[in-house]
Amino acid sequence: MAAKAQKTAKYIFVTGGVTSSLGKGIIASSLAKLLQARGLSVTIQKFDPYLNIDPGTMNPYEHGECYVTDDGAETDLDLGHYERFLNVRTSQANNVTTGRIYHNVITAERRGDFLGKTVQVVPHITDELKRNMMLLGQTGDYDIVITEIGGCVGDIESLPFLEAVRQVKFEMNEHDTLVIHLTLIPYLNSAGELKTKPTQHSVRMLQESGIQPDILVCRSEHPLPYDIRKKIALFCNVQVNSVIEAMDADTIYAVPLLMLKERLDQRALYMLDIYNDKDVDLDSWKTFLSRLKNPVDSVRIGLVGKYVELHDAYKSIVESFIHAGATNECKVHIEWIHSESLTADNIAEKLENLDGVLVAPGFGERGIEGKIAAIQFVRENNIPFFGICLGMQMAVIEYARNVIGWEGAHSVEMDNTTDHPVIHLMEDQKDISNKGGTMRLGAYSCRIKKDTLASRIYGKTNISERHRHRYEFNSKYLKDFEGNGLMATGINPENDLVEMVELPSHPFYIGVQFHPELKSTVMNPHPLFVHFVKAALAYSLQRRSVETLNPSMN
Ligand code: GLN
Repeated sequence: MAAKAQKTAKYIFVTGGVTSSLGKGIIASSLAKLLQARGLSVTIQKFDPYLNIDPGTMNPYEHGECYVTDDGAETDLDLGHYERFLNVRTSQANNVTTGRIYHNVITAERRGDFLGKTVQVVPHITDELKRNMMLLGQTGDYDIVITEIGGCVGDIESLPFLEAVRQVKFEMNEHDTLVIHLTLIPYLNSAGELKTKPTQHSVRMLQESGIQPDILVCRSEHPLPYDIRKKIALFCNVQVNSVIEAMDADTIYAVPLLMLKERLDQRALYMLDIYNDKDVDLDSWKTFLSRLKNPVDSVRIGLVGKYVELHDAYKSIVESFIHAGATNECKVHIEWIHSESLTADNIAEKLENLDGVLVAPGFGERGIEGKIAAIQFVRENNIPFFGICLGMQMAVIEYARNVIGWEGAHSVEMDNTTDHPVIHLMEDQKDISNKGGTMRLGAYSCRIKKDTLASRIYGKTNISERHRHRYEFNSKYLKDFEGNGLMATGINPENDLVEMVELPSHPFYIGVQFHPELKSTVMNPHPLFVHFVKAALAYSLQRRSVETLNPSMN
């Protein structure tokens, strides 16, 4: 067999200025999508300037969701966007933090690798940054590697990153690197004008670090007229067709098309000296978008969690619902329900008008009883139920307490003296004391039992899903659960760990130990979400028809 041709990668760096939260991840993903749609092989990596080795130890309120890759890396949530847009898997190499860079350098110093030299930010930290920036490009798998630089130009902690980018740009051939700078063009109501000054200052700051951006992507709430583009070009030293307008979009999935219209991909290819006259093939993307924008029905799904104030804490779940909604031509309205706000007294009022309830992943004691109350309510009222990770564990506890009759049943995570530890610490977690990177992480296989809801949903027997947990279903109680109707329908073939539970007597009730939301993409919506939304839609239609027959119920 002929060896696969090795590709020589070119590098695009995406920096941001003026303010944070401008959506560098979405711009990087959208550009990558366009380049991919032209037949190029692209990957995206994120360099984060904080000192944590990875975001795995951070509170979701600080950092939003922690995204887990197949190879078990705990990463920034932007990697979720990369996978959802590109439908290509990322790995540990796609997310690097200052903490990891320092850790590598200091470990090398302790080994004596520096042979008596003074170890310094420049050149040692910057060299390690550059080495990591090049890693994916050196695999020979990619035509283009896009590197998103976290943080904002002007942040003290971003300086070594910018210095590394400057050096890479300087050391490589002119057309092998490209810097795209994302900025904001605010509109001042009182003046009735778009203002370019913050962008000019932000570019100047980048220039002070020795980097001249090649393309400016300008976020704006209003279209950028030609004279404004000309002004930005003149004062920022870029050509006018390198000033790209990025208007606010009603969905992130429309951004690739906005960037296509602005010719961001063509501009990037031209500046990288890559000849490509292929048509951009975005047909299936456009089909998805049109289904997303023209739903024929809608459902209301309750998302019960304890971090609901910050929707980014559940980013992948929200996006999975968007994919599944589009597949079902159905708008999914998420009702955010704080698990701490749920009590036996208000549960009916809070949940009875929902078409489905998802109980979210999580850690620790807070809000647990609310999750259990929610599960009892949806189980008893035949409302579609989907439990993920902690949500599945709480379903097991609810069943033990309210159906089997083990009153104090619990997870040892919350109560380690319970008489019925139906969820217990995994054997290989028992000797672990460090918190970072030590959970059961990443892809593990699962075998699905025949003639189950899970087998109908997946349509196959062997699956692989991603994990992030320390506790598991206590198999000692499996017979008791199955004897009482709660079935274990997905099992890890290597260690028999229960991965899925379901209740055949219920129209749709499924709990999974893994995180399906991490694998849903635009091109491959996750079947569990697709079928959950389908079940919610069926439930809603059935309820509406009952209400029509009995108008007094309204
Ligand atoms: N806290 C639970 C565990 O560690 C569930 C984790 C989760 O929901 N990701 O097993």
